[in-house]
Amino acid sequence: MIPQLLLSLDYELFFGPRTGTVEHCLIRPTQKVAEIAERHGARLSLFVDVLYLQRLTEEAHRFPRLQNDLDAIRKQLVSLKGTGHDIQLHLHPHWLDSSFDGEQWNQVTTRYKLHDFSAAAMATMVGSAKELLTRLIGNTVFAFRAGGWCMQPFAQIAPALLAHSIWLDSTVFAGGISDDKDRWFDFSSAPVKDSWRFSEDPNHEDPQGQFVEVPISAMRVTPLLFWRMVVSRKLLPQTDHQPFGDGSPMVWGNSYFLKRLTSSTISVASMDGFKAGLLTKAFSDEQATAPGKQLFHAMGHPKALTPYSLMQLNKFLAGLKAFTGVTFQDFKHLQPKSEAHEVSHQ
Ligand SMILES: [Zn+2]
Repeated sequence: MIPQLLLSLDYELFFGPRTGTVEHCLIRPTQKVAEIAERHGARLSLFVDVLYLQRLTEEAHRFPRLQNDLDAIRKQLVSLKGTGHDIQLHLHPHWLDSSFDGEQWNQVTTRYKLHDFSAAAMATMVGSAKELLTRLIGNTVFAFRAGGWCMQPFAQIAPALLAHSIWLDSTVFAGGISDDKDRWFDFSSAPVKDSWRFSEDPNHEDPQGQFVEVPISAMRVTPLLFWRMVVSRKLLPQTDHQPFGDGSPMVWGNSYFLKRLTSSTISVASMDGFKAGLLTKAFSDEQATAPGKQLFHAMGHPKALTPYSLMQLNKFLAGLKAFTGVTFQDFKHLQPKSEAHEVSHQ
């Protein structure tokens, strides 16, 4: 069985006090990772932070700089789509509460996840985001990844997605847990499979479900990696471990780091920073523990890529004997049919 390889990237700025620039957080690192992918026959699936693009379009007439940002992003996305990469939907709703003061974005993250908005607001959000992305790059959008992995309880956001024909989710990674009360998720009981149908709970397979999950591969990360990360950031700011992105991340609660510095945690298989050094192991561990699994799905963020992580990605891809590079467009045949109509004809 030849493995399938899916590489997805959350195409977004930082959400902390410094968002960073489009050039350094998006354009340059995405260009670099696309070159590596293309060299090895892999393709990228970009989850584009569309509500940020929506804010750019709203403010562009007042600030020419933002029009330039939007133009650069559109140019890159159109070019990537034209060379076989895929563009899908990523939603960080706090952009709707954020403002541009002529110099920088001032972000308000009190409403960080979809669930912080009303059902009507969610539906409007998904609809306008899909419409904008379609207007910018054409009609390709049917897949979704929740900002910050916050998709639960899924029943609350399902109607908004369904109303706009977003039927594929790619947020789950088996075993992943966050107990941060504002950015909570729990994928501890998710199946380890290439894909499955679900209805109200992404962890629970439902053959009649109207949604399809194509999960991200998971990997175990030991505290050693986080200690190396902390030490190198403090001591060696100008090394191969310096991220391309020129912003700063949002501050998580202390418990987030404390947990990672003291015990093993489950992470997504990641192209970002230090974690990219574990890609080869993540791939072989998954093959060993789930022998029937064909799809390996690693994700990352252009802003969090580093010279080291790109070198590791290149090494990982070069080391795979044979694989088929896929995007979400290759999963279109999984789309659930509208069974309600079929049943009524019987
Ligand atoms: Zn994101």
